[in-house]
Amino acid sequence: KCQTPDDVMRVISEKGIVFIDLKFSDPFGQWQHLTIPSHEFSSETFEEGVPFDGSSIRGWKGIQESDMLLIPDPKSAFIDPFIEDPTVSLVCSVVDPITKEPYNRDPRQIAAKALEFLKSTGIGDIAFFGPEAEFFIFDDIKFSNGSNHSYYEVDSIEGWWNTGREEMPNLGYKTPYKRGYFPVPPLDKTAEIRRDMVKTLEEVGITVEREHHEVGTAGQGEINFRFDELITTGDNVLKYKYVLRNVGYRHGKFVTFLPKPLAGDNGSGMHTHFSIWKGDENLFAGDGYAGLSEIALYAIGGIIKHGKAIAAFTNPTTNSYHRLVPGFEAPVRLAYSARNRSAAIRIPMGSASPKAKRIECRFPDASSNPYLAFTALLMAAIDGIENKIHPGEPLDKDIYSMTPEELSDVPSMPGSLQEAIDALKEDMEFLTKGGVFDEDFINMWIETKQAEVDAIRLVPHPKEFELYYDI
Ligand code: GLN
Ligand code: MG
Ligand code: MG
Ligand code: MG
Repeated sequence: KCQTPDDVMRVISEKGIVFIDLKFSDPFGQWQHLTIPSHEFSSETFEEGVPFDGSSIRGWKGIQESDMLLIPDPKSAFIDPFIEDPTVSLVCSVVDPITKEPYNRDPRQIAAKALEFLKSTGIGDIAFFGPEAEFFIFDDIKFSNGSNHSYYEVDSIEGWWNTGREEMPNLGYKTPYKRGYFPVPPLDKTAEIRRDMVKTLEEVGITVEREHHEVGTAGQGEINFRFDELITTGDNVLKYKYVLRNVGYRHGKFVTFLPKPLAGDNGSGMHTHFSIWKGDENLFAGDGYAGLSEIALYAIGGIIKHGKAIAAFTNPTTNSYHRLVPGFEAPVRLAYSARNRSAAIRIPMGSASPKAKRIECRFPDASSNPYLAFTALLMAAIDGIENKIHPGEPLDKDIYSMTPEELSDVPSMPGSLQEAIDALKEDMEFLTKGGVFDEDFINMWIETKQAEVDAIRLVPHPKEFELYYDI
């Protein structure tokens, strides 16, 4: 693992590296890249940066102020397994070429500012994040485990006869509806691809803890990697998505992190485990509810209070809200609980060690930009801690089976992207503290997301033809 520019230069000469691939996150969490031959790259490049035109990147500067500089982070270096010639990839931050200030619309810089802000509050000095990004593996035309989803919309044999079909399908080796978690092969048909993903993740420096098929019938999977501090974990999520997509591509499969690709089946979340530390003390461990400290409870209070606005970053697509519905292990209410997986925040009880104490935010999904999603969570937590926002009582019941009356005091997740961006418009001060997010960035975000909502509103939905075509 490299630490300094010199370490990277040593790898370049020792391994006969031909190309340096510079990667950076656009505002929406998609890696962009530019490649330079290694003879054009030196240890000075880490200081001077590499100029590029930022104006064509979605959500970035207009054409009149388009020059930007990429500053490679030596700690992020990895040998790129998807480029045939020996290539070092480096994750970059973006700075203004004249002032050398961090570019305010670079999400990685926003995360860096959040970390500075955390330290400046005196609360803690590091925040750890452990994301669990779920995904589906699809074939081009049919689902990769060979199941035909529509067969499983009726989940009993009586249902089958009632559909009036003449032939019974052969259901051998096919995963029954919602039973993907997690029978062995030959039902699990994507295990080999997932193991290939794991090996490649380890090659690029990500420590994998486990992998498994997920509940979703058609090749849904999850690979868990070791938690780390905010920026490294942001880098790791983008690296994870890069590896999974490319391994899938090599197998002739399509890997998607779309939160809800299949109506009526489980969606893909990115549960995010989170704790704040000071030195080697985990500030979230204590002797309150579920082994939490008072600080952790206030952090939860902040996340619940600002949950709707946070969702504009943690659940930033119109599709995200098809996932946040009852019945699919995704949260619908902004509540917390040690037991309940239907709450937005769960306190994992698997380990008794104070070091392992953390909260699990279950609403984020991997259509988010991880730097922004984690930063928004951290900023809400800081706000909760600074203002001693108590989260109220935990909700240790199955929320899906509670009546609207019983739930009348429990705030909901937003029901749509529109609701989330409207909440963000009213509630952004907790994000702009310490100049972490600035208003220019948030306004760009709101405008872009509003345009997405409007684009969808202009298109008749297929379901409308079923409901109204013959009306
Ligand atoms: N797929 C579920 C979600 O959307 C989570 C399933 C699980 O990990 N228990 O959040
Ligand atoms: Mg998991
Ligand atoms: Mg899961
Ligand atoms: Mg989880």
